[in-house]
Order: sequence, then C-alpha cells, then structure tokens
Amino acid sequence: MRELRNFIGGRFVDAGSRQSIESIEPATASPWAHVPDSDRTDVDAAVTSAKAAFPAWSALPAIERSQFLMKLADLIDANLDPLAEAESTDTGKPISLARFLDIPRSATNFRHFATAILHSASESHDFDGGGVPGGIPAIQYTLRRPRGVAGCISPWNLPLYLLTWKLAPALATGNTVVAKPSEVTPITAHMLAELASKAGLPPGVLNIVHGTGAKAGAAIVEHPDVPAITFTGSTAVGRWIGETCGRMLKRVSLELGGKNPFIVFDDADLEGPAGAIETAVRAGFSNQGQICLCGSRLLVHERIYDRVVPAIVERVRHLKPGDPRETATNFGAITSMAQLEKIETMVSTARQLGGRILCGGDRVPAESLPHRCRDGWFYQPTVIESLEPACKVEQEEIFGPVVTVQRFADEAEAIRLANGTGYGLAATIFTRDVGRAHRLSADIQSGIAWVNCWMVRDLRTPFGGVKQSGVGREGGLEALRFFTESKNVCIRT
Ligand code: NAD
Repeated sequence: MRELRNFIGGRFVDAGSRQSIESIEPATASPWAHVPDSDRTDVDAAVTSAKAAFPAWSALPAIERSQFLMKLADLIDANLDPLAEAESTDTGKPISLARFLDIPRSATNFRHFATAILHSASESHDFDGGGVPGGIPAIQYTLRRPRGVAGCISPWNLPLYLLTWKLAPALATGNTVVAKPSEVTPITAHMLAELASKAGLPPGVLNIVHGTGAKAGAAIVEHPDVPAITFTGSTAVGRWIGETCGRMLKRVSLELGGKNPFIVFDDADLEGPAGAIETAVRAGFSNQGQICLCGSRLLVHERIYDRVVPAIVERVRHLKPGDPRETATNFGAITSMAQLEKIETMVSTARQLGGRILCGGDRVPAESLPHRCRDGWFYQPTVIESLEPACKVEQEEIFGPVVTVQRFADEAEAIRLANGTGYGLAATIFTRDVGRAHRLSADIQSGIAWVNCWMVRDLRTPFGGVKQSGVGREGGLEALRFFTESKNVCIRT
C-alpha cells in the first residue's frame, strides 16, 4: 500500500485527524493506497501557508517564476514512466494513454504558462477627453495583479492533466495555491508535490490537501482567504460551488459535464484514420468514455445511417477491454464502482425505454479478462439506438463507454437535436460543405466546435462550456485573466 500525505508549507504531513481513505485500483478492485481524509483544520493550515508565501512569490520577477515551472515540467518528463504507471493504476486507463496523453500534457501545461507570462502585455488607452467641455485628456493603462490564494479542485478522469491545467496558470501569474485532487485518483498529485519539492518551489507556494469533496473540497470553497476557485467536475457539485462563491463574492470558474453531439452529414469523409467513422469511435470511447469532451450522442444523416452505424459498431466490437498495464490494451477499466453502477443503471433504463443495444450493454465477463483483472470494474463499449431524444439516457451525462445514436434528415434537425440537452460543452461536425461547417459551428450551443476532427487542443484557445457545462473559460489568455485582477490607472496628461 502506498501511504499518501498532504503537502503543506513544503512538508509532507498527515491529516490532523489521522484518518485515511482507501484508494482502489479499478482493474483489480484492490486497495492500493491510503489517502489522508483531511478536513477544515488541514485546509486552514494549507491556506495559512499559501497566504504566507504569497508576497514573496508574487513579487518574484516573472522569469524566475517561469524557471521554477519549467524545471517542474522537466521533472515531469524525466518521471514519465512512474507517473504514467501510477496514473494508469489509479484510474484504470490504458498505460499507453497515460504515457502519450496525460503525463506529457501535464508537462506541456507548465511550459505553456511558464512561457506565456514572459510574453504577456496589458492594455493602454490614450484618452482625448471625450470631446466634452472641460474634458480631461489622460493616459490609462491596465495593471494585472495575482489574486492571492487560488483554490484548485479537480476530478478523477484526467487527474494530473486537469490538475496541472489549473496549477500552471495560477502559479505562473503569481498566485499561491491550495489544491485538492479527486480522492478517487490522488496518486499523481502526491507525486507532483514530490517533484515540486525537488524543483525547489518555495514552501507554501503549492499546497496539496487530499480528502473528500464534502470535507476538504468544501472547506477550500468556503474559506474566506481563498478569493478564487477553479473547479472541474460534475454539474451538481459545480452548482453548489457557484452558489457559495456567489454568496461570498469570489471569482469562480466552473468546467462541468457534457453530453456532446457528434454529427455526421451525408457528404462527410467517412473512411480512413481521420474519417468520421474512426473519429466517432475515438470520440465515444477514449478513456472508456470518461472524458468530458467525449462525443456521446452520435447524430447521423438518414441517407448514410445504415452504412455508418454498422461500420462504427463493427469497430467498437474490436475494442478489447484488457489489463490497463499492458501496452497493447486500448480499452481499460471504469475508474470507480460508483461510476460502473451509474453506467449499469443508465443502460438498464435505456432497455426499459425501448433502446436497441447494438453492441455491449453489460459488464465484461470475468473469464474474458486476464487473471489479475477478474474482480476489476470493466464495462463493455456500448452503442444504443432507437431512444427518444427527450429521454433520460439522451439527456443526462453518463460519463462511460456508452454512445447513443439518432438519425436526422437535414441541417435544421441536426441543430435542433444537437442543442436539445441542458449541456453545451463541445460539438463535432463532419461535413465537406464549408458553408454548413460555419453555420453549424455558429448555431450549436457549445463552447467548442470541432469540424472534421475531435479533441484537437491548442492551449492558447478558450476552453469551456455554455449552459449546464460551465461558467468561465480556461486556456491561454482567459486563464491568465482569471487568475489576475485588473486595475485601471488613469494619469492626466
Ligand atoms: P465531482 O464533481 O464528483 O468531483 C470533482 C472534484 O470536486 C473532486 O475533487 C471532488 O472531491 C470535489 N468535490 C466534490 N464535492 C465537493 C464539494 N461539495 N465542494 C468542493 N469540492 C467537491 O466530479 P467527478 O465525478 O470527479 O468528475 C466527473 C465529472 O467531471 C463529469 O461530470 C465530467 O463531465 C466533469 N468533467 C468536466 C470537464 C470539463 O473540462 N468541463 C473535464 C473533466 C471532467
């Protein structure tokens, strides 16, 4: 068993209560780590140390903060293998995914913001007095200052990737941080703290408090000395955090759930590795469908439905659930028992509502799994058709390897179906008609629209959702702005 500790004021410490939670390896359903079950007292200690570190860290020249973060990125690269192994064990994701996506992207997150702060500029306005009698000409410029202690709360599906997506801009812009990773997948956050310590990050600049959302997470959100909260997770928790931050007048950024449409028109390029068919499979089932951006609602033009849907189902049948540790595995375990049960409930509801299961629809039989994984949490990749668009299964986020399919007759119907849920994170559109690509990108209610591709991520672009998928944007300038407060200075000329 690994023994995790909180990282507060540059030291590794137990939770004050000495209580711990077990972290379970999804592929085997066996406990593999003890995680501190922290509470308000631990969060208080972390906030106190972050507050104490803030004046010196925020006063450092940007180039020096940048150098710390670049060093941390180098250490992540140097520890690619142990970090990828830990991420795969903790989440159940294939080791190849952790090695090629999660861990490299975590290093890139730090490099992106460590260099962004060396190139940022602020606005200036040369005011001519406004043309009114007695109008005063002035030069105005905008100062941007870090907010103080940033609270960063992250989920279990891409643990290090999403945690560092928050830490990097927060630290780069001069804030200090109290972070809480998901209690379900806490290991790589603990390893990151070890690397931060090796990188020589001054004590108190980064504090990591482990524990449940209800205790440790809520204590960060409600702490009066944490003026900014950035949260990625479920819509239900995001709503509570939004309400609390609203009441306390905190800055808040919420990246929440998705139920993303993946739309295939009859003129789309279908075949090949970048075609609609292969891309739909990747979009639906990468990380066992546990990515907020997954295209979980497939909308297919009626003229090609009978060709495209069987081709997708055929490829989905070739995804073979296996031991996440094996490099050949492309489909791993479901990260938690609660998540597995949620998937089962939703598929059973789909059956009751008359949905036709085209493939999957059940847990993976133990005998088809490697011996080590027979007690693990595995669900078959599943495709369902013939559901009413308004039903629960089409409306609620499942966050697992389940894709539903609808057919549409024309552009207007595709847009109506795409916009027909409470969510609005990402949409994918496959078409060769340029005008249609522009029209749909503009008309679909989402924070991101991908045309003829999926999950192409340029870290400079705004990232986030509309409607129930969130409030605020991460990425590039948006993140630099979120973690800084602007002040206008007006000097009479
Ligand atoms: P969750 O909301 O249960 O938990 C997320 C984090 O919040 C965890 O660290 C948890 O401990 C903490 N938390 C829970 N209750 C809290 C509270 N009352 N106060 C403070 N913190 C609390 O979500 P999850 O199950 O870990 O993650 C899956 C969800 O995340 C899905 O809905 C998925 O769509 C969403 N997600 C969104 C994005 C995005 O960028 N929009 C990215 C990844 C995941």
